Amino acid sequence: MSTLERLADRLESIAPVRRNELLSRHTTFGIGGPADIWVTADSPETLAAIVRETTASVENIFVLGSGSNILVADEGIRGVVVDNRARQEVALEPAGVFRVGSGASFAGYARKMCRQGWAGLAWAVGIPGTLGGAVVYNAGAYGGCLADVLRGVRLLDNESGEDRWVDAGDLGLVYRGSVFTRGALAGQTILEAELALAPGDAAALMEEAGGYDSRRLAAQPRGRNAGSMFKNPPERPAWKLVDAVGMRGARRNDAGVSEKHSNFFVNYGNAKAEDVAWLVAEAERRVFDAYGIRLEREVAFVGAWA
Ligand SMILES: Cc1cc2nc3c(=O)[nH]c(=O)nc-3n(C[C@H](O)[C@H](O)[C@H](O)COP(=O)(O)OP(=O)(O)OC[C@H]3O[C@@H](n4cnc5c(N)ncnc54)[C@H](O)[C@@H]3O)c2cc1C
Repeated sequence: MSTLERLADRLESIAPVRRNELLSRHTTFGIGGPADIWVTADSPETLAAIVRETTASVENIFVLGSGSNILVADEGIRGVVVDNRARQEVALEPAGVFRVGSGASFAGYARKMCRQGWAGLAWAVGIPGTLGGAVVYNAGAYGGCLADVLRGVRLLDNESGEDRWVDAGDLGLVYRGSVFTRGALAGQTILEAELALAPGDAAALMEEAGGYDSRRLAAQPRGRNAGSMFKNPPERPAWKLVDAVGMRGARRNDAGVSEKHSNFFVNYGNAKAEDVAWLVAEAERRVFDAYGIRLEREVAFVGAWA
């Protein structure tokens, strides 16, 4: 029996396990080959137990949120992929402080808080993904971002197995980035996050959220995608650059650059990761040749790329 098979057996005593799970079923792109081991965590404690058990014997572990900001390779991800459904919510003192599992739906939680009359997250009602993913990227929209309301996170050090609280001020939260994306806290798992919201008027907050919904519907394409492919460089919005080099509407097999929003790359059917990657590289090359600007990817390319 291989090390991975023995690990899968041990993980089964902690949480539900599947083998060779196709990741295209778990990404908003609808793209991605198999994970060797797929294991579902339904609480921060189970998430921690899975990470500890895995890292004791193999190196490859990937904590997946909603798969809304990643392009998974056609060959999939080797080792263990954790399906994070740790969604517990606890109201703390003082009023307005909440501790939430990192697997909670960020948009769902934001909408619920608006409905309950807690202000600070109306801008987030249309952002797919989990709270954990939102921390990693300091998710934001319409002038708001998670850093505005995040107090801190409970982290698990994948290597030592220790968990600790880290204040938001120490997470290096910037536009679509953090210490996690810059590698400083890579190899750490976000178990929970603490948010501080202010009392507000529920009806007004729901109206504000509805306004953001309408703006999103008007600006963004439908279909399978991972949101903005590139961060906006200081010089010009990424969509304008991609448009200006003639890539709006470009196709490679079933992958394409959206006609509606040229920073959105879309899977129109059975696109492969390599089709999307080809278009992304082409856009990067053309923008650099034309303007000398290096586009920075917001979407992470993960897994076993050739
Ligand atoms: C239609 C659409 C619109 C979007 N609009 C916006 C927008 O307006 N603003 C915005 O900021 N983003 C937007 N996004 C991007 C995306 O929704 C966010 O980046 C989101 O926060 C990603 O969360 P996730 O759970 O899907 O992360 P995933 O894609 O599952 O994971 C992304 C990375 O985070 C890591 N990660 C996830 N959870 C944890 C954890 N618990 N511990 C450690 N690492 C973890 C993963 O390992 C991976 O490296 C959009 C995406 C789509 C598809």
